[in-house]
Amino acid sequence: MNFVDLQGQYEQLKEDVDRRIQKVLSHGQYICGPEVAELEKVLEDYTGASHCIGVSSGTDALLIALMSAGVGVNDEVITSPFTFFATAEVIRRLGAVPVFADIDQQTYNIDPSLIEMAITKRTKVVMPVSLYGQCADMDKINEVASRHGLVVIEDGAQSFGAMYKGSKSCSLSTIGCTSFFPSKPLGCYGDGGACFTNDADIAKQLREISAHGQESRYNHTRLGLTGRLDTIQAAVLLSKMTTFPDEVASRARVGESYSQKFNSSCAEKLVTPYVHDHNDSVFAQYTVQVDHRDKLQAYLSSVNIPSAVHYPVAVNRQPVFAGQDWAQKKFEVADHVAARVLSLPMHPWLSESDQVSVVSAVTKFLAD
Ligand SMILES: *Cc1c(COP(=O)(O)O)cnc(C)c1O
Repeated sequence: MNFVDLQGQYEQLKEDVDRRIQKVLSHGQYICGPEVAELEKVLEDYTGASHCIGVSSGTDALLIALMSAGVGVNDEVITSPFTFFATAEVIRRLGAVPVFADIDQQTYNIDPSLIEMAITKRTKVVMPVSLYGQCADMDKINEVASRHGLVVIEDGAQSFGAMYKGSKSCSLSTIGCTSFFPSKPLGCYGDGGACFTNDADIAKQLREISAHGQESRYNHTRLGLTGRLDTIQAAVLLSKMTTFPDEVASRARVGESYSQKFNSSCAEKLVTPYVHDHNDSVFAQYTVQVDHRDKLQAYLSSVNIPSAVHYPVAVNRQPVFAGQDWAQKKFEVADHVAARVLSLPMHPWLSESDQVSVVSAVTKFLAD
């Protein structure tokens, strides 16, 4: 059984992917080739955002977004303590300070009611993370941010394709960022990512920052980075976008089917993912909470069922932050769930029999 099934997906799309890659090799425009602009248009149509800028990774998407918001040394960015390291890393890379607000224990996303009290004169940005494929509560976050004149950047690395109150992830705030890391809901065959915005000025800035701050050829008006999306990766993504909406629907079916099975077999010993009525999750991960998580993981591994922990510690507890005052705070909910979460195999082609095997194995362990 696979945790994600990239090989199976490639086999389905092989002819189209190979043809599109071959075309890039023939025209030879490896940087900023026509596939990049074509993909950006497809992703604008899909998300409903007016502007898409393809970039080199999800991490660089966040970094470029923060740079466009003018975040620098000692500025503060309010974010979630329960996320992949990159969310906090990019803030520190700019010399800014991550100010964490604890998460909601049902959705694992930042608790909007804790944001206002974290705002100071130095706050520039609020950067919620749409974890496991479910959007953060963007209306409440946007409302607080706009009262304080703050930019909102959605870390949508796990939520591309998710819906929030009828709109798509990455179109919900000042800037939306996503990742095309291979195992994300929409993945390429290497590193890639994108920034989205409805603001034409911000879009221009994002694009310039992604290409060395170059406003016109050899005229650099700001600092940037080598942050463009490769043409070959854009070609792969164009192919994958032909089936992506079906995959999103299929992920939702697998997620629901898992939850039904767990709720009828071991509901009292396991917490299934909670998805708000106003949200459609893309289930980047199907993540449950249990006691004795590490023992369950070892048991699953002994019966050849892969699983993963997203994430074993709150991000402020990472060793690199050990000496920092701002990292010493305790986040009760984040710490609690970090010890209890386990992500199970999840992909659009996960068969009924594989789901049954996973649920039976988990149920057996929890019954003993
Ligand atoms: C994957 C991920 C990133 C980083 O994306 P990369 O493309 O790997 O750089 C950032 N934030 C979150 C929440 C992620 O899951």
